[in-house]
Amino acid sequence: MAELHPVGVEAIDKKGWWKAHQWLILRRLSQLSILGLFLLGPVFGVWFVKGNLASSLTLDILPLTDPYVLLQTIAAGAKPLSTALIGAAIVTVFYILVGGRSYCSWVCPVNIVTDAASWLRRKLGIKGSGTVIDKNVRYWLLAVTFIVAFITQSVAWELVNPVSILHRGIIFSIGMGWSVILFIFLFDLLISNRAWCGRLCPVGAFYSVIGTVSQLRITADNREACNDCMDCFQVCPEPQVIRPALKGSGNPVITAANCTNCARCIDVCSEDVFHISTRYADKIIIKNSSPEAQS
Ligand code: SF4
Ligand code: SF4
Repeated sequence: MAELHPVGVEAIDKKGWWKAHQWLILRRLSQLSILGLFLLGPVFGVWFVKGNLASSLTLDILPLTDPYVLLQTIAAGAKPLSTALIGAAIVTVFYILVGGRSYCSWVCPVNIVTDAASWLRRKLGIKGSGTVIDKNVRYWLLAVTFIVAFITQSVAWELVNPVSILHRGIIFSIGMGWSVILFIFLFDLLISNRAWCGRLCPVGAFYSVIGTVSQLRITADNREACNDCMDCFQVCPEPQVIRPALKGSGNPVITAANCTNCARCIDVCSEDVFHISTRYADKIIIKNSSPEAQS
């Protein structure tokens, strides 16, 4: 087994190694730095950040609360503290600005695991079992987590949420939780590509709802230069979001809620088709290329 088409080689040749990997490296730095900040307290006694991804306090002043966890808490019948409400509002506004599923690609530690599985799968040319999971299953699971919270009067999902398990696992060295992460890795590697993040994860589903209005977007504004190498489709965790912007005749901005703003498509495209923009970049492009703008 071997990789059928080495992805990103043209981009490295044309743009150089750094330009072909810069967003990937920056994302890993972001994910690892966030983990590092949480580790400073338990390991070195430097409590710059207290708490975890669900709820934290930075410098004893800035509360940050995962709005998904907060809503489950409310569904479970608890009355949230005002700091939790403020923390959730701050996080929600942040992701409205930078992209809902930026949480997945820039913060979530599970993303490192699933990216690794997808990379290895590509390298080894693994085709998998052909199991196709409907991409909307995650929204059903999202609804189930709220129903379970309501019925059990507890935030039950957080006990089995792989994002929380891995975060706790790294910080507090839990043992059994690693088997859940290993299962996700092997399932993505051997059974169904990107199954967890792209099909099943309710956390990603929740943040994609915020993504429906988020401002920072990727645009295929230089789509005329596309040479159909398909590298962007190969590396994209949600490849269905690319085609309407890249191959359609309308808006070149990827407005699909499930684009994770990982910017990996920017890295691997040798033709510099993609750029970071706002969701209104289509208007700027039309204005710039109008006869008035050119005269
Ligand atoms: S936009 Fe076109 S040229 Fe760029 S990576 Fe995708 S398929 Fe290849
Ligand atoms: S379209 Fe680009 S930025 Fe969006 S998820 Fe796919 S690779 Fe990442």
